[in-house]
Amino acid sequence: MKERVTKLDINTPILDLNDRLAAENRALCDEHGVFVLDLMASPGAGKTSTILATIDMLRDRYRIAVIEGDIASSVDADKIKAHGIPAVQINTGGACHLEAAMVRRALETLDLAELDLIILENVGNLVCPTEFDLGEDAKVMILSIPEGDDKALKYPHIFQISEAIILNKYDTISVFDFDEGAFDEAIARLNPKAPVFRMAATKPVAQDSGIAAWTAWLEERVKQKGIAQ
Ligand code: MG
Ligand code: ZN
Repeated sequence: MKERVTKLDINTPILDLNDRLAAENRALCDEHGVFVLDLMASPGAGKTSTILATIDMLRDRYRIAVIEGDIASSVDADKIKAHGIPAVQINTGGACHLEAAMVRRALETLDLAELDLIILENVGNLVCPTEFDLGEDAKVMILSIPEGDDKALKYPHIFQISEAIILNKYDTISVFDFDEGAFDEAIARLNPKAPVFRMAATKPVAQDSGIAAWTAWLEERVKQKGIAQ
């Protein structure tokens, strides 16, 4: 048996290649006037339901597609397609995050000229999705109430690099031990500019002012890129 290489600094070259591909993805989407959102969260935080609520709010104004990153299965892509929205499933085959090369292959299957907004649902994980530029215009994260207020202290990087933070399942706050003051303090320290949207993505959108606030923010970001309704 061959001896294992014990010291191999693989991180740097992999990220260099990823960054090059991410820049190409960004150029491609810029050229076609498509805004790309990278949505990150733990498994079960409500990424897919947040995407569905976002689609409901914005589909009259923007042409939307979703790229679903999952280790296995196509259940999330099937849910999106059931809403009449194009969805591409990426199965990462074990990788716990999306990489720019995977996103490129998914972009090649979409008609970018016919789109205004692409939402990337990253693999459920609070750690390595932060390390990979995918060519997105904005990274946004979701924390759900049952996960606990301490996640901002335990996984500070994702809270620092997210342009906005969705605090999902907010309707359950009374039954979980979630210290909202401690959470707000942590965000004020880690990322004071990030807006925090308290919402319940599975509620009907008309009954949840947080969903409206979140989608208004996203719409503003899309407009900043010069994409008209
Ligand atoms: Mg999902
Ligand atoms: Zn990973």
